[in-house]
Amino acid sequence: MLAVIDGATPAMVARTVAAGRAPTLAALIERGTFISDAVSVFPSVTPVCAASIATGYAQDRHHIPGMNWYHRDERRYVEYGSSFRASLRFGLARQLTDLIYNMNGEHLAAEALTLFEQLDDAELRTAGTTYLMYRGRYPHEPARETLLTRIAARSVVRRPVLGPRELFYADIFASRATGCYGTLGLPGVRDRHAGCVGAYLVNHDLFDFLLLSLPDNDNHSHRNGPEGQIDSLPEADRQLAMLFTAGGGTDRFLADHAVIVVADHAHTLVERSISLVSHFTGHFDIRLPTDLRPPGEAEIALCPNSRAAMIYALEPRILAATIDRARCLDGVEHVIWRDGADAVIAGNGGELRFAPGAGARDPRGRGWDVHGDLGVLDARLDGSVFHSELYPDALGRAWDALGCPTSGDVLLSAAGGCEFTDWGGASHIGGGSHGSLAAGDSLVPLICCGVAGGLERDQWSIKDVTPLVARHFALG
Ligand SMILES: [Zn+2]
Repeated sequence: MLAVIDGATPAMVARTVAAGRAPTLAALIERGTFISDAVSVFPSVTPVCAASIATGYAQDRHHIPGMNWYHRDERRYVEYGSSFRASLRFGLARQLTDLIYNMNGEHLAAEALTLFEQLDDAELRTAGTTYLMYRGRYPHEPARETLLTRIAARSVVRRPVLGPRELFYADIFASRATGCYGTLGLPGVRDRHAGCVGAYLVNHDLFDFLLLSLPDNDNHSHRNGPEGQIDSLPEADRQLAMLFTAGGGTDRFLADHAVIVVADHAHTLVERSISLVSHFTGHFDIRLPTDLRPPGEAEIALCPNSRAAMIYALEPRILAATIDRARCLDGVEHVIWRDGADAVIAGNGGELRFAPGAGARDPRGRGWDVHGDLGVLDARLDGSVFHSELYPDALGRAWDALGCPTSGDVLLSAAGGCEFTDWGGASHIGGGSHGSLAAGDSLVPLICCGVAGGLERDQWSIKDVTPLVARHFALG
């Protein structure tokens, strides 16, 4: 079983366990291994991270670049649901179609096989609760069971999808009647839906591999701040406990199942918001969400992604001016772009240039040639090993983000306490958010219990989950 607790921070997992409020996670940590510093991808926002957890690749291979991005071929924005207000700005039907259908069916690279696809091909019995990435080999028709799903079916959800053998997705897709309802994926009831479905699947012995998605912690942390996870992590823990109980108790469940618990990204406190649109208005012709002009008439597309952002230079000649403008935006810590064969990260008054090479290696074992000011990433070279505690795996993550064909041309990472307002004008001041290169957004818990093989590694990543599961099932 792979459980993904959206937005869990390692420190809050440790505190909630120490306070005795997460006994199931405590049991997993006691019997297994608690890695408190696995690194996320960049931007550390859920669609990018979920695709990396589900495929084992960064976005250079899986092609999901953000929560909000600009589709160059279709010349339009893609919005998966930064906020309800942002969804309205792009049109709710369009947003739901991108989220429910296009993310898996069109945007996620076909060559980046998901865990479900790999395990389905090996004829293992797969199952998943509502998770952004569900692509598998089994067709599922939309459910027509409840009034809400009938309304949804009439407007947006008409076509079948390919998912794991057992797919339960916010009442929209349900491969069998479990008696569990998710009320179309409303925050606060989603974890309980996952727990209910999960317990049913355990009870009826319906899976070899289950992806149990527990998304409510992220929403709670956005509203109440990372410290508030002391109240939402116990809810996630309760759902895990339901599965364990259905499996005959902790000892019996763990004798029968290996368990991995991971978060996609973490959370840090937001104190102020940054409006990309107001900073670029008057200097560039911006493509707006509801722009009726021909696409060729705008110069840039702006894509806020919580504590990260992407800028698409629709006119290549204005790229340099876009970078200059981004570099004087207060609240932006790093501006990142490609310059020929190099990537450049600007920030802290300096510039660092790098490209794959043999000059140095990072704790994940990738080789780099690095030139310029290491102070940009508060980095140091220990012999030939490139270290940055404040911005973990920054070179690899920035390189992979720039190497993604659907990413923006210029990537921004926000300073501590800052968040880009989304296209609906929403932000999380006083609450938590994530997205940046910084450790607070990027380091996540990874708990492994009963997983086959050794767990030695200098720097774990959420990209390692797929290989861990594949190794456990002796695939490939
Ligand atoms: Zn979030």
